[in-house]
Amino acid sequence: MERAYNFNAGPSALPLEVLKRAQEELVNFKETGMSVMELSHRSKEYEEVHERAQSMLKELLQIPNDYEILFLQGGASLQFAQIPMNFLKEGKIGNYVLTGSWSEKALKEAKLIGETFIGASTKEQGYCSIPNVEDIAINKDDAYLHITSNNTIYGTQWHKYPVFENTSLIADMSSDILCRPIQVNDFSLIYAGAQKNLGPSGVTIVIVKKELLENSKQDIPTILRYSTHSDANSLYNTPPTFAIYMLSKVLEWVIEQGGITAVETRNVEKAKLIYDAIDESNGFYRGHAEKDSRSLMNITFNLQSDELNKKFLAEAKAAGFVGLNGHRSVGGCRASTYNSVPVEACEALRQFMITFKKNQ
Ligand SMILES: *Cc1c(COP(=O)(O)O)cnc(C)c1O
Repeated sequence: MERAYNFNAGPSALPLEVLKRAQEELVNFKETGMSVMELSHRSKEYEEVHERAQSMLKELLQIPNDYEILFLQGGASLQFAQIPMNFLKEGKIGNYVLTGSWSEKALKEAKLIGETFIGASTKEQGYCSIPNVEDIAINKDDAYLHITSNNTIYGTQWHKYPVFENTSLIADMSSDILCRPIQVNDFSLIYAGAQKNLGPSGVTIVIVKKELLENSKQDIPTILRYSTHSDANSLYNTPPTFAIYMLSKVLEWVIEQGGITAVETRNVEKAKLIYDAIDESNGFYRGHAEKDSRSLMNITFNLQSDELNKKFLAEAKAAGFVGLNGHRSVGGCRASTYNSVPVEACEALRQFMITFKKNQ
């Protein structure tokens, strides 16, 4: 069977090698006589999986020792609520930079919990860009500054983070974690649902500075406190063991690829194939994002009419390309080129775009 050219936005492509290895181990994991899904989450064998996933993530992102790595559930969407519940205390302000639908959703939850503020927004520009760091308004009572590092729906990405002294930066990295190196030190908390760049759905990664945890609210339900999960090494209740196992396989694969800088080089090459097809089309394809805000992970574009968009998407589908429809809220086309999407798939899409244009 042939693998599809999978450009899904999430859940999305996984490396074929990872799937094959998981398949090999599926019914008998490390001579246990059972699948990893059937192991007790308190067993030695599972514990090894859990800890290796943490240590590989630590190695790949060079996470300093004063950070905790948590494996939670509820997706990035639960983080939208959990962050203000833990950190937005009376008299403090949750400062949000709006760069797309996911930041709007994060803000919406914070508003239910406490005082909020919009430090900057590119909504009026149709979210085609990222604000300049200098243009972000900061308050002295900010509990934190929240950003969405990559805007999955609009196809924009931060290329310079808003790091301010005495401001805790929190980032939703659901769709670009591990696509390029970052300075974890710049952030107080990073979170990401795994299903875009790290593995299957079901597990959310939270990387949080211990200092931030020490000052978190304790008068909220036990399971919603970050400190509960950090005290229990993410084993307070049953974690999503199979998703964490798959995450560990993906992390292993990233290490084999040469680590995060090698992956970044490949991501730049992949995105360039498609952006070049857009830029060299004399306006036949129109990128949504401004050039300096373009995402390495989600490439959004339109053709000259809705009709042509539809024709492009239908023919692409027939040619074996999956997931090129833009998000239902914005329409158009979107190619998600996450870490696991091979260069060949991007090359094939580039060729398809060039041929489609010629045939009109
Ligand atoms: C997909 C996505 C989410 C939502 O993730 P869930 O895991 O479905 O809750 C949030 N933020 C960003 C940036 C996303 O891409």
